[in-house]
Amino acid sequence: MVKQQVESAVNGKIRCDACPVMCYISDGKSGACDRYANLGGELIRVDPLTILEQRADTGGAVVAFLTDEGQEEWSGDLVHAGTPFVTAVGAGTTYPDYKPAPFIVSQKQNGIDMVTVVTEGIFSYCGAKVKIDTDRFIGPETALVRVDGEPVGHVTTGEYGSQMLSIGGVHHLTGGSKKEGRVTCDALMRLCNRERVDMQVDGGAALSIEAGCPPVINGVEESRMRVGCGSATIGMFARQWKSMVDEVVVVDDHITGVLSEHQAGKLLDIAPTGIRIKGRRSTPGRYFQVAEPGTGWGGTTISDPLAILGDFDAKVAYPGLRMLMISTTGEQYGYYILDEQLVPRLQTELPPAIRETVEVVAENCEPALVSVLFVGGAGGSLRAGVTSNPVRLTRSVKEALTHVSCGGAPAYVWPGGGITVMVDVMQMPSNSFGYVPTPAIVAPIEFTMRLEDYRALGGHMEAVIPVAQAVEQAERRIPVPAQSGWPMAEHHFKWGA
Ligand code: SF4
Repeated sequence: MVKQQVESAVNGKIRCDACPVMCYISDGKSGACDRYANLGGELIRVDPLTILEQRADTGGAVVAFLTDEGQEEWSGDLVHAGTPFVTAVGAGTTYPDYKPAPFIVSQKQNGIDMVTVVTEGIFSYCGAKVKIDTDRFIGPETALVRVDGEPVGHVTTGEYGSQMLSIGGVHHLTGGSKKEGRVTCDALMRLCNRERVDMQVDGGAALSIEAGCPPVINGVEESRMRVGCGSATIGMFARQWKSMVDEVVVVDDHITGVLSEHQAGKLLDIAPTGIRIKGRRSTPGRYFQVAEPGTGWGGTTISDPLAILGDFDAKVAYPGLRMLMISTTGEQYGYYILDEQLVPRLQTELPPAIRETVEVVAENCEPALVSVLFVGGAGGSLRAGVTSNPVRLTRSVKEALTHVSCGGAPAYVWPGGGITVMVDVMQMPSNSFGYVPTPAIVAPIEFTMRLEDYRALGGHMEAVIPVAQAVEQAERRIPVPAQSGWPMAEHHFKWGA
C-alpha cells in the first residue's frame, strides 16, 4: 500500500493533493476518484502498487500473461524471485508536477545502473483507438458514437477487415457538457480496463465491445474476421476453384471479386462466363459498390447475392454453367446452375469438393476481436515530475536513451514533438486505468534509462531510491507478460542495440 504525504488537514479531514480537485477526506472514506482514501489519518493509494517479475524459476524466461484469475501470485520465495520492475499501476500521482514522481527507483541491470521513473499520469489529452474485426457496417465515417446518449467519440477510417472507432479525446472530455465529459471519461476508463461498454453509432449499429473479446453488433456476436477482400479471396483460392466451378463471385462491400474476369482467372485460363455485376468496375474482376454497406453478405445490405448480378450475356453464357457465390468470411454461400433461360438456380446440395473450399475460406479467417489502444500525450507538467528540464526527457525518449512503458507494456512513441504514446491495453495489468473528476484519465507511465543519463537530463536525483524500497510497498506481483517482454531489456535502448 502506497502512502502519500499529507500536507494539510482540517477538522480531522486530510487533504489529498494528488490532482487539482484537492479533496478533503474523512477517516475511513475515499476521495472523489476512489483512488485515495484516509486510513487512520494516513492518505493511502487504494489500488495496490504492482510490480512485474522476471521469474528466475523459469530460467529468466518470460511466462504467459493470463487473466487476473490465472496470474500466478508471487510465492515469496526469495531464492527464485526474479528481478522486479516497478510499474506505475497503484504508484500514485504527484500534483503539481514540479514535485518528483512518486517512485524513482534505481537498480542494476546487467551491471548497468538503471533508473525507472514511475508515475500515474493525469491525461486530459487522451483517447482510445478501437479496432473491431468485422466487415459489417457499423456506421458512416465520422458518425458520432454515443454512450448513454452522450457523444464519446466517432467512427474513423476503416482498416483492412476491421472497423475503427476513435473514443475519448480532449473535446469530449472537456469541450462539451459536464455530463458528456463524465460519460466519456467513464466509458474510456472502462474500455481501457478491458470492461464491456455498450455504444450506439448515429445512423449505425448498436455495439457491445470489450478488449480481447469478439464484438457484438446489433446483438449478434461476430465470430470471424474476413480472410481478405473479395479480390484477394479470388486470388487465394482460384486454383482450387478452377476444376470445380465455372464462375465464383466473392461478395464484399469493399471489392467484390469475379473469378473469370480476375487476373488470377486469366492466368489459369478460366473462360469468360458472360456474368454481369451491378457495381463500379475498378479493374478486371474487381468491383466497388455492388451494394450499400450493411450487416449482410460481405458487409453489404444484401441477403440474396443474386441481387448484385445483371442478366448473363447470352452470347457467352450457357445452360448448366456452375457458379459459386460466397462472402469474404465463408459464412454465406450459395451454389447455382444456369437453367435453359440462363437464370441462376440455387442448388440445395453443395458438391462435397466445393463445400470443402467453403470450409477452407472460413478456416482461414481469424477470430474477430476488439482491440483497444490507449493513446495519450505526456504533457509538460507530467514530464516535470521526471526532470526539472522537461524537454530533455522528450529528446532522451526520441534518442532511444529512455524507454517508455505503460504498466510495463511497451509504448509506441509517436514521431514529432512531445511524448505521445500508444499502448495495447491487453498487454497491461488489469485495472491499470483510473480517473479524476476534472475529468481526465489516469494511466500508468514509466520512463527507464541509465542512471548517468538521468543525471544528465536534470533528473530528481535526490528522490532516487533503491528498488527494494519500492518493492516493499508492492502488494501485487505478476509475471512479465510474454507478449510484451522485459521492460528493461537492452534492445529497447540505443546503447543496447
Ligand atoms: S479526486 Fe482523487 S486524486 Fe484528486 S484530490 Fe480527490 S482523491 Fe485525490
